[in-house]
Parts: sequence; structure tokens; C-alpha cells
Amino acid sequence: MRPDSARAPARRILILGGTSEARSLAEHLVEQGDQVTSTLAGRVSDPALPVGEVRIGGFGGVSGLIGYLERQSPDAVVDATHPYAATMTAHAVAATGQVGVPLLRLARPGWGDRRDASGWIWVDDHPSAAAVAAERGTRPFLTTGRQPLGHYTALTDHDTLVRVVEPPEVPLPPRWTVIRDRGPYRVDGEIALLRDHRVDLLVTKDSGGRYTSAKLDAARALAVPVVVVRRPPPPSGVELVASVDEALGRLGRLPHQ
Ligand code: NAP
Repeated sequence: MRPDSARAPARRILILGGTSEARSLAEHLVEQGDQVTSTLAGRVSDPALPVGEVRIGGFGGVSGLIGYLERQSPDAVVDATHPYAATMTAHAVAATGQVGVPLLRLARPGWGDRRDASGWIWVDDHPSAAAVAAERGTRPFLTTGRQPLGHYTALTDHDTLVRVVEPPEVPLPPRWTVIRDRGPYRVDGEIALLRDHRVDLLVTKDSGGRYTSAKLDAARALAVPVVVVRRPPPPSGVELVASVDEALGRLGRLPHQ
């Protein structure tokens, strides 16, 4: 239900997006009468667009974001970028701090609470994951997204399977197979994929959520070892929420101007 606009003028909320949570949050806020602008990095050629205003492309670093915030003067910024979008998150902290705009970080929980997570090989970064893959796998399946692929290209003797949304930006070894696809994925499809490619190691980020988690169920079903690259640490000094509902609750306490 829309609030009485005479008593509760729309708040201006800037959502740094690129995730399903960001889209869901935009939808709820627009529905309740807030004025929402979502921003996307512009890396994906046909992104799922959120409702409300959408701005595509980077801001030009911290200084660019400061300028944008000064011009737009949002009442609050929600950093709902992916848990691994650490640069955008750091820029949001710096710029909102400088301009004095409230910042909320919305990041879905990782997969660490799953029952099978204790059996995974957890590493701090992609070079470490690549080192494990070099040693433990002969037919690894890389689901890290395209950006970190350069860390894995020394796996020239491995029959590596890669799944990406957009084409890789670095040249890949000839023995590698690239699949372009986008979630959500189903467990039966993931089991078939792992079987067809005789995958013997799965490499993933700790993205969390259900969109891409079927690969973990498939790996468990087929007893394929899993290497997980840990998340970058969350920003310090910023309020953190783990769900769209929590974000809405927190934003609900934001005063109307
Ligand atoms: P990143 O490394 O943290 O950000 C690199 C630069 O991209 C930022 O400095 C900023 O450019 C621009 N940027 C990133 N997110 C933006 C946003 N929401 N709105 C406007 N500009 C943005 O980010 P990334 O890991 O490349 O991710 C890019 C986008 O894809 C993010 O929006 C993220 O939510 C989404 N995504 C990322 C992953 C992942 O695994 N990293 C997975 C799924 C979706 P300027 O410095 O010019 O402002």
C-alpha cells in the first residue's frame, strides 16, 4: 500500500545493485512509494533490470561517487552489490562517509552453514584455489565467474570446464571448455553436467543464496571435492543486513524528509 504522500514524502534511496537481492529491494521500496535509483556496473550485456530508475556504468572511483551523491543527495545508500564486489563496497564506504549519507550493506549469507561445508577445502583467494586445483584435480569445473579466470590459466594440462555469463576476457588454454549460461540451476542438470564432463573438482566462491547452489548438491551427490574461495571481509563500521526484509526494516526507521 502506498503511504499518504502528504505525510510521508518519498525517500530517495540509492541501491548499488547487480544482485537478485538488489532487484527485490528496489521492487519493495518502489511499491511502498520510495524513489529508487539502482546502479549497475554495466558488465553484463543484457542485465536483469530492477524497477525504478536505473543507472548503468561506474561512477569513476570514490571521487566520482562523491560527486554523484552530492548531486543526487539520496537519503540513504544501500550497497546490495555481490559479496565479492569488494571495490564497489570500499568506494561506497569512503564516499558516503565523506558526504555524510547513511549506508547500509546488504549481503546474503554465505554457504558456510550448510552441512557439507565442513568437508570443503576453504582457501583465501583464487591463486590458492588454482594451486589446489593443479594438485587435486585433472578435470576441474571453475564457477568463479570470468574476472578471476586469469588466476587459473596455468592449468594448461587440465581438462578444465568453465561456466561464465559473459565471454572470458583472457585467452584460455586450448584444453579448456567454456559454457556460457546463467542461473538459476537445478540439481539434476548440474549432476548431468558434472557427469558429462567427468568433473573431479568443483571450484566456487562462497556466493550464498539458492540461485547457483545446485552445483554444491550435485558435487555432494557425486562425491566431487569442492574448493571454496572465502569472501572478502565485510566493511567495518557499516551496518550489515543479510536479507531484503532486514534491509526494509532498517530503512523503515529512516526518517521521511
Ligand atoms: P567491483 O570489482 O567491486 O567494482 C569494480 C568497479 O565497477 C567499481 O569500482 C565501479 O566502478 C563499478 N561498479 C561495481 N558495481 C557497481 C554498481 N553496482 N554500480 C555502479 N558501478 C559499479 O565489482 P565486480 O566484482 O566487478 O562486480 C560488478 C558488478 O557485478 C557489481 O554490481 C556486482 O553486484 C555484480 N556481480 C558481481 C559478482 C562477483 O562475483 N564479483 C557476481 C554477481 C554479480 P567505478 O570505480 O568507476 O565507480
